[in-house]
Amino acid sequence: MSCAAFRIALSARVDGEELPPEVSEGALDAHLRVCPECRSWGQQARELRTLAAHLDDARLNDARLDGK
Ligand SMILES: [Zn+2]
Repeated sequence: MSCAAFRIALSARVDGEELPPEVSEGALDAHLRVCPECRSWGQQARELRTLAAHLDDARLNDARLDGK
């Protein structure tokens, strides 16, 4: 299976979504152990997600202040 397929699965995992049926949790973990590229890609995806979550919080806080 190609890295692209594992990255789709990895992105689903980062988002807390179900993995695509063709990639099992075990297969994804096994691939991450042998593929540093996908490991760092997953790390970046997680950081981006955290960043996006913080941006959403900031936007919500702004909206609350505007509503005063
Ligand atoms: Zn890979």
